Amino acid sequence: MASFLNVSAQPLPDQVKMNKFISELMAKMTLDEKIGQLNLPSAGDFTTGQTSSSDIGRKIREGKVGGLFNIRSVERIRNVQKVAVEESRLKIPLIFGMDVIHGYKSVFPIPLGLSCSWDMDLIEQSARIAAIEASADGICWTFSPMVDLSRDPRWGRVAEGSGEDPFLGGEVAKAMVRGYQGTDLTANNTIMATVKHFALYGAGEAGRDYNTVDMSRQRMYNEYFLPYKAGVDAGAGSVMAAFNEVDGIPATGNKWLMQNVLRDQWGFNGFIVTDYTGIYEMTAHGVGDLQTVTAMALKAGMDMDMVSEGFLLTLQKSLSEGKISEEQINTACRRILEAKYKLGLFDDPYRYCDSKRAETEIYTDANRMAARRTASESFVLLKNEGNILPLRKDAKIALIGPLADNRLNMCGTWTVAGDFEKAISVLDGIGMVTGKPELVTLARGTNVVADSLLESRIGMFGKPTGWDSRPAEIMIAEAVKAAEKSEVVVAILGEASESSGECSSITNIELPANQRELLKALLKTGKPVVMVLFTGRPLAITWEQENVPAILNVWFGGSEAGAAVADVLFGDVVPSGKLTASFPRNTGQIPVFYNHKNTGRPLPEGQWFTKFLTNYLDVPNEPLYPFGYGLSYTSFSYSDLKLSNHTMKPGESIDVSVKVTNTGKYDGKEVVQLYIRDMVGTTTRPVKELKGFQKIFLKKGETKEVKFTIDIEDLKFYNYDLDFVAEPGDFKVFTGGNSRDVLEADFVLTEI
Ligand code: BGC
Repeated sequence: MASFLNVSAQPLPDQVKMNKFISELMAKMTLDEKIGQLNLPSAGDFTTGQTSSSDIGRKIREGKVGGLFNIRSVERIRNVQKVAVEESRLKIPLIFGMDVIHGYKSVFPIPLGLSCSWDMDLIEQSARIAAIEASADGICWTFSPMVDLSRDPRWGRVAEGSGEDPFLGGEVAKAMVRGYQGTDLTANNTIMATVKHFALYGAGEAGRDYNTVDMSRQRMYNEYFLPYKAGVDAGAGSVMAAFNEVDGIPATGNKWLMQNVLRDQWGFNGFIVTDYTGIYEMTAHGVGDLQTVTAMALKAGMDMDMVSEGFLLTLQKSLSEGKISEEQINTACRRILEAKYKLGLFDDPYRYCDSKRAETEIYTDANRMAARRTASESFVLLKNEGNILPLRKDAKIALIGPLADNRLNMCGTWTVAGDFEKAISVLDGIGMVTGKPELVTLARGTNVVADSLLESRIGMFGKPTGWDSRPAEIMIAEAVKAAEKSEVVVAILGEASESSGECSSITNIELPANQRELLKALLKTGKPVVMVLFTGRPLAITWEQENVPAILNVWFGGSEAGAAVADVLFGDVVPSGKLTASFPRNTGQIPVFYNHKNTGRPLPEGQWFTKFLTNYLDVPNEPLYPFGYGLSYTSFSYSDLKLSNHTMKPGESIDVSVKVTNTGKYDGKEVVQLYIRDMVGTTTRPVKELKGFQKIFLKKGETKEVKFTIDIEDLKFYNYDLDFVAEPGDFKVFTGGNSRDVLEADFVLTEI
């Protein structure tokens, strides 16, 4: 760990020196060249929109490009940089961006999975390794972390975030920024982070990607804004605007959001980049033609235009018509130049183009081991009836399911640099871990989905699931035969890699009927069945919870996924992940999240049904698995919750302690969670709010006292006037291994 976090120290940029350097440079720049700095075309290695950029070489020579993205490899980046620094008039280096989301070549679990490790050191390390590998391949800027809070698993991009909780989301945001940027951005193995997508992208109506967002400022400030702010506080160098509107104005052109909130209230001093064609898309949002929306974006505070070329095409005209000022262009240009300065690109434009590093620092054994270890920490054991798991290494296994022998889908969505073919499949992993591949009988059983058209949409991004056109009965019969001659069935089911991710929203989050049919047939054999669930979102697996004895949720674990799955299946690693997003009972229950409000007609916890209270006729209010939930091969008990005091004055703090005992048969890790509830406020407060957590290791039989401190900052919230205050009154404190099963204590915050 230490070696990954050890960033070579170089002096921090001296502000005065930087300002002088940039002022002198800008004095030489024409207006065209300044506007050029604000232009970010896509190099086209990979596109995420319907438009791609053209004629980039010429534009670079003419000083009309500030940075490029979707280009990788030291050689290619060096060649392009050479054009900028040798053939353009002012020789200003380009900044090279990339979606380095969860690892680079050594791919880590999807962010939703990563967050379920609740291990901030591990998460920081994953970003650190990603930064080392990406920078060794020429990249100096990543479009990560995505910190959009989301409570809607229909939205495909829940996979890219950290779930439903603002506090945990903020902790992850900080860890990722630290990991990418290290302690010194000019070091050649650190890269600039981008907090995205500002703001509220995870709250699109009906979970449909890019859809309208409408939210109260109370909810923005107290919940959805927190992870962005945490990323900014951690020093992220850039922020990306969201596609959606915020309060009726597209984020890309929303001055209140970008200027008042981000810059004035939070003090952000990096640069803001639009999302892919974000400016152009404002025309479809219906707020003006390209010239109008481009001016709007600049005035709102956009510094860099990703792919739209609205800046390039219309800013001159807007300036001559007095619709924008030169000062606004200068401000944006200065911020882009500052970013390049902070990255050390003016000292050495080839700082990130060391081909030796590319040979020795990418996809190393150590990095892959870290990815494997991290993956195993992200898995969440949802059920383990009769302690079916862990399995014996000499057990005869029927390995069934469309993803059992699939390498291409292991990395999950948004892995632009991964070698999918080299990823470890579950079949590979089991062989590696048991050393007895001959004990495995493989059968596909079914396809991921039964509809080939849907399958082709899912497989669009170059990660096919290996569609099998045999009739369903034949595939099931083959699987049943394999099950019958084995001791245990391991069913590798769930979603494909690209069932989640960008533009992968769905309206039904249950397991597809064809997969359930397969499960039914397998269960009928009477063999113990373990379901290993691949997914990029919470799924409504109520039927599976009721019928399948063991369920291990493995998200998409990255390049080493299959090995990590086997590590956990056979007990080399005891599972310790906990959900960071509630799993609904069915799709109609969405949104369901633990930190909801009480309402005027609350249903007492654990109860159902009462007429005229807030509940449903057909399902209980509680999710299938609550936030913070996850089992282990061992078990933990909580006792002796104690507060150092039952009153607290502003300026004081309260120590909370709780005893946690490993009561089972394995050594294991537990995520001890601390929640509070503000019982009475001037505005309504959530029924629980996460305020702390610790992941601890306990040997079997061992007890540890876990301590937290609650201070006034933990009790503050944004009141109706959006002042950040703590209000005197009663508070509850909860501790436990998930958000539902907790011990409880009380204290009072006094006036003075
Ligand atoms: C996504 C961003 C991403 C960008 C560049 C967009 O479609 O929304 O998250 O960073 O493309 O690839």
